Amino acid sequence: MNTKKFSPYRPTYSPVETLERTFSLTGGLGQVALQSFQGKEKNIAASVEITDRCNAGCHYCYVYPREWDQKQRLQGYLNLPKEQHKDRESQVIRRLHSLKASGIVHVTLVGGEPSLAPDVIRAAADLFPIVWVVSNGAAALPALPRSVSVFVSMDGPPNFHNQSRDPMGFFENHHYENTRGMSAAIARNINRSERGAYVHLTLPKGAIELFSEAVDWLVTTVTKLRGIIISGTTGNSKLDPVAYDLSDRRRLKVLVECAAEKYGWELFPFNQPLTNSFMFDEDKVIHDPSECLVAQTVNSLDFDGKSTGKCILRDEADCETCMCNITGMSRAIEKADLNTIFGVLRAFSG
Ligand code: SF4
Ligand code: SF4
Repeated sequence: MNTKKFSPYRPTYSPVETLERTFSLTGGLGQVALQSFQGKEKNIAASVEITDRCNAGCHYCYVYPREWDQKQRLQGYLNLPKEQHKDRESQVIRRLHSLKASGIVHVTLVGGEPSLAPDVIRAAADLFPIVWVVSNGAAALPALPRSVSVFVSMDGPPNFHNQSRDPMGFFENHHYENTRGMSAAIARNINRSERGAYVHLTLPKGAIELFSEAVDWLVTTVTKLRGIIISGTTGNSKLDPVAYDLSDRRRLKVLVECAAEKYGWELFPFNQPLTNSFMFDEDKVIHDPSECLVAQTVNSLDFDGKSTGKCILRDEADCETCMCNITGMSRAIEKADLNTIFGVLRAFSG
């Protein structure tokens, strides 16, 4: 067995930057502690859709008509003229100001593809101590302020990901080392970015056995990898073909443990053993949103600023099939699990 442990890419900071980050984070986390001490039932985090534009063509994406080419997707699913896009971005920035005023300290920016709206990301970074950007990684990642951490989504190892996310072949001419297609663009963009990225691996039910292949590729090819986050697909009911059953959960848990044995648990900062127990174990299944910390503390907004429902997975998602990593992780933090807290603090530090 390969015993070479994974060492996460750590962006370099000057002493002044470290001081600024520490000060900003302490202020944000202090605000959360104060709100909790005062017993205020408040959201402390928000997920915000910041653009309707995208450069990818995922086969399961419901916001773009399947037959649209990349040029059409880049104009956005609302099909707005260019000047109206600018207005929309201004609206989103005003929304971010309102969220800040309401006590939010942590925003997750989603799209479309957020890296196509870098001005909004920078505005969020000025407002909030913690900003996470969920990207498909296929466009060059913009230079970003220190409060921002990037999470690139992948569905499996390179060839599987290319078929899943780029069936129309928008990225088929991209090559990087031994990889081609959209996965090549992802590895290249992360490695050329200033501060690297986490990769959020969301394996569809039928791709669980590809987990180890995906992890091996990420560890060997993405030199600025900061860690791997693991989720699975959530269904609208237990009968939904995408929903994991209990044997799927057990299987993925074992595969994560084997990979952690090979590379070390530092590779999975958001999937420490207690988080995995909450995500995968039968007796830990969540039955409804009242048991879910994400539903209680995160305000999820669509591009119009309307709530997406109980969580970012929307009201249709059946909690009993939920394979969202953040849900398990927040339960581990609530139990004061130090391994999880340190893993999350690493991502908070930017
Ligand atoms: S990257 Fe996201 S927004 Fe873009 S096509 Fe895929 S699922 Fe849709
Ligand atoms: S679907 Fe998952 S994240 Fe959403 S409320 Fe239910 S348990 Fe929470």
